[in-house]
Amino acid sequence: MRVDYHCHISMMEYADPEHPTVVSVSREEFLADLDAAGFDMAVVLSDSRTTPEMVSTFVSQAPDRFIGFGYVNPLRRDAPESVLRQRHELGLFGLKLYPTVDGYRADDPRAFRVYEAAVGIDMPVLFHQAGMPEPHDLLRHTDPEQIDVVASCFPRLRIVLAHLGYPRVEETLYVARKHRNVWCDLSWPYGDINHPSYRYLLWRDLLVALNLGVLGRIVFGTDYPGVRQKPYVELLMSVNRYAAHPDLRIPEDRLAAILGENARPLLPEKR
Ligand SMILES: [Zn+2]
Repeated sequence: MRVDYHCHISMMEYADPEHPTVVSVSREEFLADLDAAGFDMAVVLSDSRTTPEMVSTFVSQAPDRFIGFGYVNPLRRDAPESVLRQRHELGLFGLKLYPTVDGYRADDPRAFRVYEAAVGIDMPVLFHQAGMPEPHDLLRHTDPEQIDVVASCFPRLRIVLAHLGYPRVEETLYVARKHRNVWCDLSWPYGDINHPSYRYLLWRDLLVALNLGVLGRIVFGTDYPGVRQKPYVELLMSVNRYAAHPDLRIPEDRLAAILGENARPLLPEKR
């Protein structure tokens, strides 16, 4: 089983930070890319532009392949009710939050109402846990120490931290070490400049994860359609080319588990 735990149907792409562009995909193109890379399922995320209603409609066209995630801004008064509505009326399985973009701390008491609603219906929460190349999206809203507080207060809430928490990767992995209810996804962690050194940086960070004992809670994600599944799988499975000594190799079976097995506790029950 292979799962891409971080996909969009429409997203901003920042390859040229001065001129971000919108990239969108159709259901046919999305399924063709999943098939080409041998993926069974993909998590499709909402945001303020790609609304939960749009994601719900999209995933309902192939419910055996797509898992829909909603979105709320916890600073809005009706956010907890919206979480419940997105599960019960839109059939969405999880929730995506964007503290950086929406301008709040993950440990803001107003966000706790959202976590309470989510944990009450066993809804996993995926944080956009990374910097954004926009001047007003402040890094103070991506600090893993805030997730440390949330994970500690909600030990039954399944938390997924996107992008390995870039640029605070080691601290993010340490939060996962502390809390068994925290996972990290591998999507697009090294900025938006597609230089080949990317593979080296991925190897380095996975080695830290291995050493901290959290490699089993790393799940595969691409940030599709910004990144396609097939080349990203090839990148992941070839990171050991940078292991100059056998002690620095990441076991192949542990890398393969990232592609699907590690995500099992984060999938809907019937799957
Ligand atoms: Zn994303």
